[in-house]
Amino acid sequence: MSADTGAPVLLWFRRDLRLADNPALAAAIDTGRPVVPVYVRDDEDAGDRAPGGASRWWLHGSLKALADDLASRGSRLILRSGKAADVLDDLLQETGATSVFWNRRYEPWATARDEAIKTSLKERGIAAKSFNAALIREPWEIQTKDGGPYKVFTPFWKALRGLGDPDRPEPAPDRIPAPDALPKTENLDDWKLPPEKPDWAGGLRHTWTPGEKGAQEQLASFVDEAVMAYDDKRNFPGTDGTSRLSPHLHFGEIGPRQVWHAAIAAGMSATGQPMPKGVETFLSEIAWREFSYHLLYHFPTIPKEPLRPEFADFDWKDDAEGLKAWQEGRTGYPIVDAGMRELWATGWMHNRVRMIVASFLVKDLLVHWRDGEAWFWDTLVDADLANNTASWQWVAGSGADAAPYFRVFNPVLQGEKFDPDGTYVRRWVPELKDLSGKAVHAPWTAQPLELKEAGIALGRDYPEPIVDHAVARKRALERYQRMKDGN
Ligand code: FAD
Repeated sequence: MSADTGAPVLLWFRRDLRLADNPALAAAIDTGRPVVPVYVRDDEDAGDRAPGGASRWWLHGSLKALADDLASRGSRLILRSGKAADVLDDLLQETGATSVFWNRRYEPWATARDEAIKTSLKERGIAAKSFNAALIREPWEIQTKDGGPYKVFTPFWKALRGLGDPDRPEPAPDRIPAPDALPKTENLDDWKLPPEKPDWAGGLRHTWTPGEKGAQEQLASFVDEAVMAYDDKRNFPGTDGTSRLSPHLHFGEIGPRQVWHAAIAAGMSATGQPMPKGVETFLSEIAWREFSYHLLYHFPTIPKEPLRPEFADFDWKDDAEGLKAWQEGRTGYPIVDAGMRELWATGWMHNRVRMIVASFLVKDLLVHWRDGEAWFWDTLVDADLANNTASWQWVAGSGADAAPYFRVFNPVLQGEKFDPDGTYVRRWVPELKDLSGKAVHAPWTAQPLELKEAGIALGRDYPEPIVDHAVARKRALERYQRMKDGN
């Protein structure tokens, strides 16, 4: 039987593709009216920030899972494409709905659009309500003593932590009331989100399970097995030391409140004390995500412009060949190549290695961070405007609280320190698997016999380094000095 007791509520799904801990959905159900869930493919609104290739693959799986979850609760996901304002207007007409609820997004293009939509709906007497599903705290809830935004992480984290735990997440509803007749929907397969010719997504399919259930399972295994050791293991890409929740968080298949409370509960049951070190460090990484959103909201130009204005004059190098070698994992630096190949194969890369490869691109090759950001945007399943641009600017030295430009990562020493037995490099650069000891991070230092026994001819089976790191480092520091001196 339908619950058609009045004009329906349009529930506009966006980057909140879940049923639990979804305040807009809960509020829609609370009205007692039928709910019309809709997802708008709004690439036109997003412009050059429409999802990249790997994200489109993920989105397909996530929408499929959401549609199934809605169907099992008596509802149906309506898919439409176009400008969100037009699509919502059409649906209001078709369904007779008098309210639209959604959870907020924070990308500059989305906040501007949503504000315009809200104003226009309200002017026409339509109730438009937005909620927070994506963050522990809204970007405007955390302020410095002067009432401004933070630009430094540690005081931001203290302020966030000082507000205490976020609200406990609500479980998913058992039923979602549907109107007698639902509007027409487009067919997800017709959107052709996954790649076809060529189908490069085999590694993604093998690695990930998009959707709310996949997210919950990933969280459960992380809090059971790894969160307590997170502080010790999170920097070692050869181990499963991190949560791998980033794509699930990006698409809102799980929310940070759920992650936060699960981590705290795991800490309490393991030690009887609220905050073992592993849990506390993990929460602080969740806070880095909050910080990135805080920056993007308050400094909406960060996707394009350096946060430190002096970097606008940095003399970046136009190096198409270097960029290509980096993208393809052929730089001759094993830890860099391993990271770039992991990214290509799985749509994800370990955070330590993201820092190493990003530093290599912007400092050793002097290629603009925006080129690296663009590649990540297309290839990461967790590509996220806030996290990606804030992190690239952090590595480049032009961002808030950034790693100082003169601190240039040495890819060989980073490999030796964070992949001490070479497990990670051997996994992703199999041509080096028979090199032993430290040579796996610097094959050009191996003796000719050693290389021969490992079956490697440098330049044939694996590239010679495309730059000499010591020389490249010096060159980068000179350019940095020139920028500082203003010439
Ligand atoms: P965990 O270590 O388990 O951390 C838990 C969650 O905290 C992550 O899922 C993520 O949501 C958040 N988080 C962790 N570290 C950071 C960080 N440094 N900044 C912001 N949030 C963080 N993360 C993205 O989600 N999308 C991106 O597009 C992205 N681009 C990056 C680009 C560069 C150059 C660098 C250096 C980092 C980037 N990161 C990005 C941040 C970080 O590398 C990933 O969030 C992390 O590796 C995801 O793995 P995980 O879920 O196992 O993380």
